[in-house]
Amino acid sequence: MVRVAVVDRDLCKPNKCNKECIRFCPVNRRGKKAIELHESGKYVVIYEETCIGCGICVKKCPYNALTIVNLPDELEKRTVHRYGPNAFKLYGLPLPVKGKILGIIGKNGAGKTTILRILAGELKPNLGILDREVSWDEVIRFFRGTELQVYFKQLAEHKLKSAHKIQYVELVPRYVKGRVGDLLERADDRGIARELGEILGLDKIWNRDIRVISGGELQKLLIAATLSKKADVYLFDEPSSYLDVRERIRMAKIIRKYLPPNAYSIVVEHDLAVLDYLSDLITIVYGEPGAYGIVSKPYSTKNGINYFLEGFLPAENMRIRGEPIRFHAYSTESKEKTTNEKIIEWTDVFKRLGDFKLKVSGGYALKGEVIGLLGPNGIGKTTFVRILAGELKPDEGIIISSRKEKMTISYKPQYVSPKMFQGTVREVLMESNPNALNVTSWLYSEVIRKLRLNRLYDRYVDELSGGELQKLAIAACIIRESDIYLLDEPSAYLDVEERLAVAKVLRKIIEGKEAVAFVVEHDVSIQDFISDRIIVFYGTPGINGETTTPLPLRQAMNLFLKELGITFRRDPQTGRPRVNKEGSYLDRYQKSIGEYYYIASGIED
Ligand code: ADP
Ligand code: ADP
Ligand code: MG
Ligand code: MG
Repeated sequence: MVRVAVVDRDLCKPNKCNKECIRFCPVNRRGKKAIELHESGKYVVIYEETCIGCGICVKKCPYNALTIVNLPDELEKRTVHRYGPNAFKLYGLPLPVKGKILGIIGKNGAGKTTILRILAGELKPNLGILDREVSWDEVIRFFRGTELQVYFKQLAEHKLKSAHKIQYVELVPRYVKGRVGDLLERADDRGIARELGEILGLDKIWNRDIRVISGGELQKLLIAATLSKKADVYLFDEPSSYLDVRERIRMAKIIRKYLPPNAYSIVVEHDLAVLDYLSDLITIVYGEPGAYGIVSKPYSTKNGINYFLEGFLPAENMRIRGEPIRFHAYSTESKEKTTNEKIIEWTDVFKRLGDFKLKVSGGYALKGEVIGLLGPNGIGKTTFVRILAGELKPDEGIIISSRKEKMTISYKPQYVSPKMFQGTVREVLMESNPNALNVTSWLYSEVIRKLRLNRLYDRYVDELSGGELQKLAIAACIIRESDIYLLDEPSAYLDVEERLAVAKVLRKIIEGKEAVAFVVEHDVSIQDFISDRIIVFYGTPGINGETTTPLPLRQAMNLFLKELGITFRRDPQTGRPRVNKEGSYLDRYQKSIGEYYYIASGIED
């Protein structure tokens, strides 16, 4: 067995605790040294050679700063990179294939971005050797006998040029200045930037400063810029963040169409329908988030995603999760409600905001219902949610509550900021619902632990990353006792398991209580899983939006997908929706019978 000990330097606070980890360590007590304070005094160091892996320090640490795992010896030989002593460790690398798109799926913190940085040549792998510089020759020798040997040889000789769409697009305007058009023209080695810009609708904002454009616009700009570069390796880290469904599909089509035929390409993506559509093969990254990640063998796209969901990898005979993730096909049966009690009802509602006009069709939500909101960006989804939340007053129309007393509303806005909260993560959650912090409660196990917020209890909200803050905002919203839950784009930054955890808990809360929820969601698999009925938004983004009344899932999806011209089938094993290839038999058949969304499982490709 090899020991991997990881100390989270942000969480380790030796001047606030009683250094329980050092005092209770049985090795230390016997006079040897397995753990001690770093000379800086700011965090502890664990010596993996002397540590016996008993886990006492892990349990004693009041800040959850330590992780110790015992891994099989064979794995050690596959160490590709370690960020430093007691830091994250990556085992293995996926093999990019020329002319194919390799999809990567895995939990947050498992090492996906690290893999992309290594394959882009931005991060030289150190093979876990920390006491000296590792040469390229060593790296090349390490991959001897595999195709990665050739890859790294070319990388070392600067013969592989890479183009990399980074994960956090919102960071780009901090170090790149200029207008949308300038940026694209500068990147345009291949002479396709204009064309891509037009397809993605960037021509309309060609002269806009990149500091003022939206997250979705920035995402599209960077995807177009990446594709416009002449490179041998194209890397896309979470390309669907901030994009609506139509844009996701368009983005996927563009990447497929405009990649040079012989290029290497790798995509990290959490939206399963998009990943499925984009990838020619799939690698799964598993392990313990923040501690270590292991790269699986390559699988076919369909099998790779299914094995990931099943939680078992047959080629390595490895269980990566205790239980499978299931996309229960609620949607296929009509979800008959036992009561017809309306919790909330609204008349036709009209609202004007500047030049934008929104007209919402009247409707209602029954006790126990989750209502999905689906539509392009800039069409008024957030505006409607804010009307429901009471933040905006409609110009015409009213919202009617069935309750005598005032309805309680729990609202997760689309954009979360640290200013929404005060104090530590623990305090924020405590204020929402103290019962959820009880480790035996299901809210604790299903929300707080699944989103790994227990690890962050003592962090102040203003030190959280964007992803961490998003998770806190979601948890604070759904653990609160309320009549109405409003979640505006909860999936951004979340991985598949986190998205599903949120969806499941929300369903359970809504079904168990006399409550309803409204959820804005662009991930079709999640929308499918979570909603009983859907409000479809249509119109001209930025100008005017209109909505349907809440429609049964299938009808809503049909309406929505018909406009997009794409069809979905259902994977018979996992129940997840899969995009049909355009012009395929199923695509043509489903279009001919007008069933864009769902077709009886059993028919497969
Ligand atoms: P993913 O993209 O799968 O979410 P990352 O590759 O970004 O994961 O990160 C994997 C782990 O490596 C995380 O725990 C992260 O905190 C850690 N990590 C990333 N970059 C560094 C770095 N420069 N130094 C130390 N740790 C890092
Ligand atoms: P969605 O959530 O569907 O992306 P929003 O409801 O946020 O859309 O916005 C719809 C349109 O209304 C956008 O064009 C947006 O710029 C505009 N808008 C939103 N708030 C205001 C405001 N306070 N003043 C003027 N225009 C606004
Ligand atoms: Mg990442
Ligand atoms: Mg919005």
